[in-house]
Amino acid sequence: MTFLKKAVNTTPIEDTVFAVVKKAKEAKEKFGKENVIDATIGSLADENGELVAFHSVFDTYNSLSDQSKAKYANSFVGNVDYREEVYRWIINGQKLDLAYSVIATPGGTGAINLVFEECLNANETVLIPEIGWGSYRLMAEMAQLKVKTYQLFEQDKFHIDHFKKCCQEILQQQERLVVILNDPCHNPTGYSLTKQEWQEIVDFLNECSKEATVVLLNDIAYIDFSYDLEHVNAYMNLWNQFHDNVLVVVTFSCSKAFTSYGMRCGAALLLSKNEKALNDVEIVFEKAARAKWSNISNSAMENFVMITRTKKQEFLAEKQLYIDLLKARSDAFIKNAKANDLAIYPYKEGFFITVKVDHNKMRDCLHEALMKEHIYTVKVNLGIRIAICSLSVKECETLAAKIKQVLQTIAG
Ligand code: PLP
Repeated sequence: MTFLKKAVNTTPIEDTVFAVVKKAKEAKEKFGKENVIDATIGSLADENGELVAFHSVFDTYNSLSDQSKAKYANSFVGNVDYREEVYRWIINGQKLDLAYSVIATPGGTGAINLVFEECLNANETVLIPEIGWGSYRLMAEMAQLKVKTYQLFEQDKFHIDHFKKCCQEILQQQERLVVILNDPCHNPTGYSLTKQEWQEIVDFLNECSKEATVVLLNDIAYIDFSYDLEHVNAYMNLWNQFHDNVLVVVTFSCSKAFTSYGMRCGAALLLSKNEKALNDVEIVFEKAARAKWSNISNSAMENFVMITRTKKQEFLAEKQLYIDLLKARSDAFIKNAKANDLAIYPYKEGFFITVKVDHNKMRDCLHEALMKEHIYTVKVNLGIRIAICSLSVKECETLAAKIKQVLQTIAG
């Protein structure tokens, strides 16, 4: 007997992250914080392991009036000034010759969800990375979509051939291609595509668009922590080359960039040469927003506008301190990994580094064995995720050696 519709799966969410976060917390209470390495937490922490909440963000937020926090947003697609500022923030000086629209969403999650729910029919397939953020799969399942995965790497470069093969296979079955590129600062490997790799993707999707409509979802959740902010979004210029049949949906999140995970503020930026088709997407996304969450927190949007218009330099300076810290942590981890011959996926920038494990059985053994040594990590497909965003530089200096040691014990 069930109260649910037929097409739902009643298996509980297998939240591997929260389960291991809980174990790490218990271990810290039992053995002392200094004797446990907790590499599970995917939010930015300072060198003492405390969650970072930028002063430039929350001082601004606290200066907003009660009315601003109490009232509804101006529209279901978000406040006008928020939508303008989000466009400017994402494009950041690039010259785009494409029609656009911004729809405010609850975090990047809401934006990604709109694409899954509204751009494909039930039983169609969405293309996602083989190693990637776990929620993509859940969103696909809830939208009754099938999932196909592309291998991310061939040696240390993006596996463009496999990506192309997957797209072609999908297009043999359906007339619309929806692909996700979580770039730059991919979660969980920390890879960022080169401009050349982006060019190949643009050329190929243009080819695909001769026989199908193409939706490219570019999930930029971690872009604001790139190590090269000046050039990080130069690839967006290549989108000017897209043909009429291509829609880009950039999914933007205030969670990481503004250390505002709980505020649930984000956006979907729609870009296309085809203004009419883009307007249709905007209309449907607006209706979906109205039906699902109605509108986004007014004060979160006002806060974003106030920071980007009047506190930008202060905010960027504060954020830069943590980008530098992330760089110090990743440099330390990678140096130690190299010295100890520990294989990792090609990391360039971002919150996470992933230890490479060829088989998931081996990964499970490693994950378990690490916990016995009070090292808590998160399992991902073919790897172990290390959240350098919440580890200290000191921990990063020796962690790879510890992992290698455990690996050798279980392998030998
Ligand atoms: N995309 C990736 C790859 C993520 O890791 C996350 C959050 O962890 C998101 C999108 C969405 O985050 P939010 O909904 O908090 O903006």
